[in-house]
Order: sequence, then structure tokens, then C-alpha cells
Amino acid sequence: MQHASMEMREDQEPLGSFSPCTLEAEGPKPPSSIVASSCYEVRPIPGKGLGLVATRTIHPGTLIIDEAPLLLLDPPCKRNDILKLLGCRLFSSINMRTTPDQIRAQIHQMILEKLVQKLDQPQLQLLYSLSDKTVELGAKAKSLWGIWQTNSIPLGSYRVSGIFPTVVRLNHSCHPNAHHIWDAETGREQVWVVEGVRPGQEITISYVRTFCSKSFRQSLLKEKFGFLCTCQACSLTGGASELDDKFRLEIDRLAQQFSSAKQDEDINLAIEIGERMLFLMQEVGFNANVQWPGFFNCFELYLLVGDMEKAQFYLSRAYELVCKAQGASSADARTMRKYKHNPEQYLQDFKTSDKHFIASLTHC
Ligand SMILES: [Zn+2]
Repeated sequence: MQHASMEMREDQEPLGSFSPCTLEAEGPKPPSSIVASSCYEVRPIPGKGLGLVATRTIHPGTLIIDEAPLLLLDPPCKRNDILKLLGCRLFSSINMRTTPDQIRAQIHQMILEKLVQKLDQPQLQLLYSLSDKTVELGAKAKSLWGIWQTNSIPLGSYRVSGIFPTVVRLNHSCHPNAHHIWDAETGREQVWVVEGVRPGQEITISYVRTFCSKSFRQSLLKEKFGFLCTCQACSLTGGASELDDKFRLEIDRLAQQFSSAKQDEDINLAIEIGERMLFLMQEVGFNANVQWPGFFNCFELYLLVGDMEKAQFYLSRAYELVCKAQGASSADARTMRKYKHNPEQYLQDFKTSDKHFIASLTHC
């Protein structure tokens, strides 16, 4: 994996993070999606260390990894819980006369040391085979904390994070063909391929938000992760590169205007901005995982103005995309399926739930 750290962020949906799973999905949760077998191998990638390479054609909507963490850091928030976890001796050794960030770092390191004691020999070997960016920055040897900072990823929130044996090998692209998602119910990290991948092609995810220019992305990746991105998007030159930058920056600007329009409850303006953003996202080639929340937002907005035909169109499209991003058995896909043939019911269910529809849009 190229260098990653606690600051790692997934591509964020510019139309907000409201998820349809806030409403009850249809029926009981079906069995987890099946992981595609033998579709990739871990091998050296020139200039990137190890990476995942497809060994056969992988279609969009394929789950390729579903794995438990090698290490999972879920630090308690309350003082007494930390004391209970660490014990008096360790707890009293924390240097409290420093910044909150440094106190937190000390606690995290202590918890990690305890977690590592539970690993068996093969797990320890795997852990210490991972890269440590602090060595390149001058540290004399690899350390657990350095490895953690280099390879852990946030899980749903920035409080909980983990290192995963295979996910850690995925390299970055500003035009990724896969994305990863934490399944809190099963305690496992999943990786879904969202664009068709050919045999021999590398499978990539995005480490950062990519609604920004090439120069900004490259300086951010260099600063945070220590590498120069040479992905498909960063390899564009001349007019194509300028247009790609222009569209990404416009999406970023529109995302802010979209939030303002929703806050002002100017639904027609929000629709206009949302549709322009979706057009631009398709022009840039953002994948299903980035696009589906936008389509779902437009579905909700058209419901609010009473245009059922448009609402149904956007819901169908959101469903198609979410199946590629999370599979048909995901909670989001099940919820959309429930309303696919009766979108008005979504509005009704929202009215009878304890959530306020406009409020949910405003605060997403
Ligand atoms: Zn790039």
C-alpha cells in the first residue's frame, strides 16, 4: 500500500451523507454478499510496493474482500473506561502535561501494545512486514506506532480505526475502480469493485477526497502519504487535464451551494444544482459509489416538489448505482427496492417516522 495514515479519507459524496437506510429496509437482513474468489493477487507494483492486481475480469458490483481487522482500535471515551482497560500502572504513566492530541496518541499507543500481545506469530509477521513512513522520515527502525499511522484506516468515524491484512495492500488512484466500506454489523471491512476491471489491471481505492485540482491532490498525497500520484487522472495533460480540473473544482463549489440551497429550503435551486453536479460527475467519470447519493438526493427533492416521474427516475438510477457500490443485499439497496415502485410511500413513511423530512435534508 502506498503510505496511508489516520488522516486517510474516503471519497466523500458532495451531495451530503444522508443515507436512505435511516428508514427501515425491506424485510430481514439477507445473508452477506458472497465474496468473489480468486479474482486478484497481491504482487509488486513498480514504484508503489505491493498492490492488488486482477487475475480475471471483475464486473462492477463485485465484492472482492470481506475481512476482519488484524488490529482494531476502538478507544473508550470515558476516563474510567480507559483506566479499566489500561490498568492503574499504565494509566498513571500517561503524561497529562501536554496537548490533548498527544495525550490521545499516548493512550492509543498503549491500547495498541496490549492488542498486539494477543496476536499470534503469523499475524505479528504480517504486521511488521507493513511499511512505516516514519522510517523514511528519519526514524531508526520500524515501530508499532509508525506502522499504525502508516496503514490504519478510519472505520465509519475517525474515532475507530483498523489495519486489515489485504485492504492495506490497495493502492490509491484519483480515479479508483473500487471502494472500501466498514460493515459495523459484521465487524468486517468490505471492498467492492465499482468499475469493470480487466485481467492484469490494478485494483485501486481513493485515499483522499478528489473534488479538487490535480496540483492540489498531488501536493496533498505527497504531504500526507509521501508519494507522487501517477494515476489515470493525474496523467492527463494539456486541455484534458485543464478540463478535468475545471469540472472537479466546479463540483466542489456546487457542493457548497447545494448545502446552502437545502438549508434555505430552496428545493428548486437545490434540484438545479444537484443535476448539474451529477452531469459533471459523469463527465469526470466518478464511480457509482460517488454518484449514488447524488441521485438519491435528487429523488428526495423531486418527491418534495411532487414530480413523481422524475422522483422515480432518480430512485431507479440511485438503486442501480448503489447495487454496484454495495451490492443488492445492502441496507441502502433494500430500502430503495422497497420504494422503487411506490416512491410516494417514502414520503409517507418519513412523515410517520420520528424524523422530519426537510430537517433530514437540511442537516445532511
Ligand atoms: Zn492521481
